[in-house]
Amino acid sequence: MKLTNPEVIHSIMSKSGIKFKKGLGQNFLIDDSVLEDIVVGSEITENTAVIEVGPGIGCLTQALAEKAGKVVSIEIDRGLVPLLNSLFVAYNNVEIIEGDILKTDLIPLIESFGDMEVRVAANLPYYITTPIIMKLLEEDLPIRSITVMVQKEVAERIVAKPGGKEYGALSVAVQYYSDAQIIRVVSSECFMPPPKVDSAVVKMVIGKKDLGVDEKKFFRLVKAAFAQRRKTLINSISGSNFYKMDKAQLKEAIESIGLNEKVRGEVLSLEQFAQLANIVE
Ligand code: SAM
Repeated sequence: MKLTNPEVIHSIMSKSGIKFKKGLGQNFLIDDSVLEDIVVGSEITENTAVIEVGPGIGCLTQALAEKAGKVVSIEIDRGLVPLLNSLFVAYNNVEIIEGDILKTDLIPLIESFGDMEVRVAANLPYYITTPIIMKLLEEDLPIRSITVMVQKEVAERIVAKPGGKEYGALSVAVQYYSDAQIIRVVSSECFMPPPKVDSAVVKMVIGKKDLGVDEKKFFRLVKAAFAQRRKTLINSISGSNFYKMDKAQLKEAIESIGLNEKVRGEVLSLEQFAQLANIVE
């Protein structure tokens, strides 16, 4: 069954009495080339186990299952779960789990995959894009990559380099845990119903950067630096109530890593944040 065909989607949904739930970010993909790009971007082989977030009515699940050894799809909408189970009854490599990805302990699931390499692929629900990505990255899971559809604007923030207005705490965090790239931009016509924003597929290849800094110190400084973007770094740090250095000491610290005292947090590279974090605490 062609699960990207709008008529097929309508027919399946009306037969099962299912309606699109906007509140759950249900915008289903209806463009095969996008599915193909997510599958190719995920570098799936028979020895790959894929965790899919939010299968919807299963178009990406199906595309992944054609190539992967195993696909486990986690769907919060309990109305979709029996439908998915019946659609994939003939696939012995697909498992549907009813649950909230943010509350799911992924470690036992990943352990159950044995020596298969694990990748995450999804057309994410946009209302919780950042919490999902941060959960996947911060939990230090033994996964190889995350290839996901997100709002285009979020994708641009994820890959942004220092100096631009898109560069912020999300860019630093994702780039600390992975190497991220935009695979393609996707127009709203590729979804049913179409979302109000453009989208993009982002691929994050997992690999924590060794910056020679304690992670807590690093992220504390990043958070302080971006809390008020318009302030200079010195004012952001001294306004954060955590750091004990006075402004003269902060000036010295900032200049010691080759930066100007008027600098704002948004121009610092990951390496510079790490260097400074080691000095200011
Ligand atoms: N994969 C399908 C596709 O590409 O057509 C559907 C993608 S749709 C953008 C997002 C899916 O995530 C929906 O099926 C929605 O019900 C599900 N979802 C929303 N919040 C979730 C959560 N917290 N945990 C798991 N799934 C969730």
